[in-house]
Amino acid sequence: MKKNGNLIVISGPSGVGKSTLVKLAMAELPDLRFSVSCTTRQPRAGEVDGQAYYFLSEEEFSERLRQGEFLEHAGVFKHRYGTLKSEVLNRITRGEEVLLDIDVQGARQIRQAAESDPVIRNAAVFILIAPPSLASLRERLSGRNTENAEQLALRLAGAKNELSSFRIYDYIVFNDELEKAAAELITVLKSIRLRTANIREELFQ
Ligand code: 5GP
Repeated sequence: MKKNGNLIVISGPSGVGKSTLVKLAMAELPDLRFSVSCTTRQPRAGEVDGQAYYFLSEEEFSERLRQGEFLEHAGVFKHRYGTLKSEVLNRITRGEEVLLDIDVQGARQIRQAAESDPVIRNAAVFILIAPPSLASLRERLSGRNTENAEQLALRLAGAKNELSSFRIYDYIVFNDELEKAAAELITVLKSIRLRTANIREELFQ
């Protein structure tokens, strides 16, 4: 194996359609491994433990944090989320490509980890999924009818904050039209595979 795998970080505000885009991209690129995060939030209908998330109690989460098991972790909308090192590090050194669906706080932590860890530095690529405008995001969120006015305001403020950090990402995909955005995301993911950064020194030896 002459290459390490890529560590692909995808963020995007709530309601932007990120999970749909990620699903479409993963169907097209079956070698891409989804990093299953830990969370303290309750499972939603249809979410299977160990597939969507590892659903943990507050105590279990704190214990894993104390044991140093997280590559990054953050509080999002009153719940805790974290990426396990075991979901990512061995896989990328085995040459597997791993996709992380995490928020901007997590993305920042991976950027920081990259500064001191060359394996992460060479593997990590950051993609932001953005709405065409804040107005369109507001429309989408209120159309879902899953949030009350207070939650809606909270999510919109969170979105604004997340989007204002766009410069920490290498790529931005605007989800104005699902099929076009999915095609763009797939193009980005395919081109990431052609980077030289994660090729090992012994390539031509
Ligand atoms: P949801 O609860 O809707 O599945 O996710 C809420 C937010 O938490 C999303 O923006 C998602 O990207 C983020 N998230 C999910 N897993 C992680 C994680 O392991 N770390 C961080 N920092 N954010 C996460």
